Amino acid sequence: MRGGESSDAALEFGRLLSGQHTSVMLNWRAVQCPYCGEAFDTGIDTSAGGQTYTEDCYVCCRPIVFRIAADADGNLTTVETRREED
Ligand SMILES: [Zn+2]
Repeated sequence: MRGGESSDAALEFGRLLSGQHTSVMLNWRAVQCPYCGEAFDTGIDTSAGGQTYTEDCYVCCRPIVFRIAADADGNLTTVETRREED
């Protein structure tokens, strides 16, 4: 068995697949909790572009509202965290 050709084909196939389906693009960022002030790393999925969502703080478990923006390549451009009640 030779490896080269088949792995290239598999890579190409993977690219085709990711064009058709929503691929997860995790951007790891350090954020600060607006409640307890703890900083922690969180993986932010930018495959859907900019969005607002809620995620519980890793430390104090209160709901942090994330507002994110991403460019066309899925690179995270903006991360804002705030309290839910604002
Ligand atoms: Zn917290």
